[in-house]
Amino acid sequence: MSSTPTTAPTDTEIALRPAEMHLYKPAEPATAVVTKTEICTAGKKAAGYVRHIEFDVSGTNLVGRAIPGQSIGVLAPGVDAMGKPHKLRLYSLASPTGGEDGQGRILSTTVKRTIDEHWDTHKLFLGVCSNYLCDLQVGDKVQLTGPSGKKFVLPQAAEQHDYLFFATGTGIAPFRGMVMDLLASKANCRVTLVMGTPYATDLLYHEQFTRLAAAHSNFRYLPAISRERNAGPQGPAQHGKLYVQDRLKTDAEELLPLLRSSRTLIYICGIAGMEMGIFQQIATLLSGSDLEQYIRTDAATMEKRANWERSMLHKDIKLSKRIFMEVYA
Ligand code: NAP
Repeated sequence: MSSTPTTAPTDTEIALRPAEMHLYKPAEPATAVVTKTEICTAGKKAAGYVRHIEFDVSGTNLVGRAIPGQSIGVLAPGVDAMGKPHKLRLYSLASPTGGEDGQGRILSTTVKRTIDEHWDTHKLFLGVCSNYLCDLQVGDKVQLTGPSGKKFVLPQAAEQHDYLFFATGTGIAPFRGMVMDLLASKANCRVTLVMGTPYATDLLYHEQFTRLAAAHSNFRYLPAISRERNAGPQGPAQHGKLYVQDRLKTDAEELLPLLRSSRTLIYICGIAGMEMGIFQQIATLLSGSDLEQYIRTDAATMEKRANWERSMLHKDIKLSKRIFMEVYA
């Protein structure tokens, strides 16, 4: 009997939901109207200012045609220091497929005000588009482009998988929509969301995720607070400061079976660099074919995993098609 080489499940391309692209471009944007803008941090006095902002896109081709994992472009009015119109800025959608209204008319996003100092002059630096968006009032008009992005969406056969979502900060936006979609579909899949922020007051949509976790036995919500050992009775239960990847260790009893399952897909969104800690932790916890479901590397690279860097990805550290990533510096 001849042996036929088999393709490992890790290498199987996963068919993703079809995503429409670039219905509106900067030269001819869609006009939307702000219908809601509210602070979405757990604490009203959080370290950062983050808003959940909703837009009515009625009368445009965006209705029902933008899905979680995609971004919309925002054109801030005015010109830059060179006198040119401000460049388009992309924001991940936070809304589910049916929009906030169930009809696909109300899209949403999650915006953190960029407030910093210029390194050279130490004068105040305010990010143009994030502050423009956060200043908008209900009824204001805004110019949108998109949608864009088709590689960070849920699979077409969503019910055939389980999900491990890792978010830091505003990287939560796409997962809000995805979690809402998955739970509304009543598909029999396990969904785990690990959300990392510096302080418990910075957690985004914390009440909503806590409520969803209480209502759906297949949904687990695991916050990871990096600068507080214990956030107190109002905060999440944790002992010691945690990064998102630490949850794989502290909650191993629950998360290891999920990692070992051939159904599981891993999605990562947020701050650049977070992915390496997750991969290091996975490489520590798994071995053999369990590990190869996600990561392939050689013995020498495995030995040095404490020093893994982003530059090693796709060369020394190869990721399987079951890992989806969108990280920004
Ligand atoms: P934030 O509230 O500051 O939270 C970031 C959290 O990640 C903090 O707890 C931080 O811990 C932790 N962290 C830092 N480095 C880490 C690492 N190497 N591994 C694991 N955790 C780490 O976040 P934010 O200001 O909202 O920033 C979110 C980032 O996500 C931004 O860079 C944004 O551009 C990006 N983002 C990307 C997309 C996308 O790609 N579609 C969408 C939205 C947001 P400490 O600070 O305590 O070390």
